[in-house]
Amino acid sequence: WSSETVAVVTGANRGIGFEIVRQLADHGLTVVLTSRESSAGLEAVNVLQESGLSVVFHQLDVLDSLSIKQFTEWIQQTYGVIDILVNNAGVNHNTGSDNSVEFARMVIDTNYYGTKNVTKAMIPLMRSSTAGARIVNVSSRLGRINGRRNRIEDATLREQLTDIETLSEELIERTLSNFLQQVEEGTWTSGGWPQTFTDYSVSKLAVNAFTRLMSKELSDRPEDQKIYVNCYCPGWVKTAMTGWAGNISTGDAADTGVWLALLPDMSVSGKFFAERREIKF
Ligand code: NDP
Repeated sequence: WSSETVAVVTGANRGIGFEIVRQLADHGLTVVLTSRESSAGLEAVNVLQESGLSVVFHQLDVLDSLSIKQFTEWIQQTYGVIDILVNNAGVNHNTGSDNSVEFARMVIDTNYYGTKNVTKAMIPLMRSSTAGARIVNVSSRLGRINGRRNRIEDATLREQLTDIETLSEELIERTLSNFLQQVEEGTWTSGGWPQTFTDYSVSKLAVNAFTRLMSKELSDRPEDQKIYVNCYCPGWVKTAMTGWAGNISTGDAADTGVWLALLPDMSVSGKFFAERREIKF
């Protein structure tokens, strides 16, 4: 890795994303810190530049297709290619075991569709190299499909989403739209959805499924054009998202993401990690 290596991190003006930028830049990479609010992003970049790191800013709102398009064009003109994409931007409007109906669509849109749309825009720009380009999705154990607690009750749906042969974007998005319909109708509580952080859990379940699907779809690229896609859970982290109630620092939370982005073993793809270890979806 060198300053020629270009990494992009979404939602990086604060929290875990900011630390991922710092740690990637500490390894000598050029890192594009993106943020939906330019002022917040520029302020964050200044802090890192002052410590001598190679970090640049560009605006990117993962919910805004024009912003994604403008960002993509800027990357193309400025660097031509990128080596690493970290999809970190995310929202969670649940503050306890209650589900926030009002924000469910926003949570699904940001966490799943934002990740998907940025990924699809960046894939054509990923550098061809024998080291392989990397995509890391910041997800959550709350989105585990087969976890003992907090899982979707429908066993058939769980099986379809688990089996890579039946997994598809259409299935993921049909699942999300069925969920949102039940949220709108007020029937989600009896609908068999996860009981804790319901909309957030469903959004991260979709991110995990998308990670496995993309990994499969990208697996038949030629040897020198490989793209490895993985996701990880950072743990319960002291950030605004948890009201700073988490039990680990943003530095520790960023560690597994940075490790995955820089992993020398290039065969790892379509997997879920926590604390640098593979965990089950
Ligand atoms: P923060 O709330 O501190 O940071 C979230 C970041 O995402 C902010 O920079 C925010 O920008 C950005 N963001 C939100 N919406 C958009 C958007 N539409 N476009 C671009 N950026 C956006 O949370 P964390 O650092 O804790 O979360 C980072 C990731 O880690 C998320 O994906 C989260 O789900 C995941 N995670 C966090 C856990 C935790 O315990 N904290 C546990 C498991 C996973 P802005 O400042 O403008 O709001």
